[in-house]
Amino acid sequence: MIHATRSTDPILIVGSMAFDDLELPTTNAKDVIGGSATYAALSAALFAPVRVVAVVGDDFPDKAVESLDSRGVDTSGIERAAGKTFRWAGRYSANLASRTTLDTQLNVFADFRPKLPAAFRASPYLMLGNIHPSLQLEVLTQVSSPKLVAADTMNFWISGERPTLLEMLKKIDTLVINDEELRQLAEEHNIKRAAARVRAMGPKRLVVKRGEYGAMLFDDHGIFFAPAYPLEEEIDPTGAGDTFAGALMGYLSREGNLDRSALRKALMVAATVASFCVEGVGTARLEALDKDQVGRRLEELRTLVHFGH
Ligand code: AMP
Repeated sequence: MIHATRSTDPILIVGSMAFDDLELPTTNAKDVIGGSATYAALSAALFAPVRVVAVVGDDFPDKAVESLDSRGVDTSGIERAAGKTFRWAGRYSANLASRTTLDTQLNVFADFRPKLPAAFRASPYLMLGNIHPSLQLEVLTQVSSPKLVAADTMNFWISGERPTLLEMLKKIDTLVINDEELRQLAEEHNIKRAAARVRAMGPKRLVVKRGEYGAMLFDDHGIFFAPAYPLEEEIDPTGAGDTFAGALMGYLSREGNLDRSALRKALMVAATVASFCVEGVGTARLEALDKDQVGRRLEELRTLVHFGH
């Protein structure tokens, strides 16, 4: 059961807003609205007030920003710059288990310097979505003592901007990353050893997303595992990782604490919300999602892992 709001601590999400071109097993889709900030904001807004800082070009549709507004997301930190919006193109394997980046065009991101509106600087929860690690660092210099700083990243930055990424890792407490990227970052195949290596780089808490194999939390309490909800129909996994991170932050903000039990529950809630993301192309399923649907699926997930004492 997801209880009524207990805390209204806002979450600041900084990340990409994008046009995605997706080659999926069942369909191809062009100019799909995506980006790490878009998915994370839609997801986190199910649980807590959200503020977004990002950049879009003059080709970005107003209605995509209005869709965030309509969910209570504060979009006043979304800058509209002259030029084209960030664009990413990817192709998924037939079983959706892997994907290849076909193209990344930074466009307006190339000159983006995030400037947090004064009212955003004291946000207690900060989610540094997947963007250039130097931009993630710039955001960190502008916030005042958040309770939780989480970041995501991806292979593009791990291989291309490693020194800056390592600097960023020293300044965050939680890294949310997928298993392949964890292995790449740690230069170690074994998940447990890779997790220990990455925790030694800075983040005391590590959340490893493993797609259909669930997610794992590594922290001072040990390891926790949250399964993925078994879906009957998987359409498009794009953004599931960002959706996971957004829900994690949203749920933690609402719980108002970061103890062991809150973190474990947050992983289960995040796995639940991320499963919905996969059921539609782009943000389609997330935009139609409400808390009751999340609550029902969370109960199914609870039953799935219950095996008595
Ligand atoms: P996920 O499937 O959770 O890894 O997120 C996919 C989203 O990340 C897509 O909507 C892309 O627009 C966005 N994305 C892909 N590559 C990058 C990048 N290099 N920097 C920022 N965002 C990206």
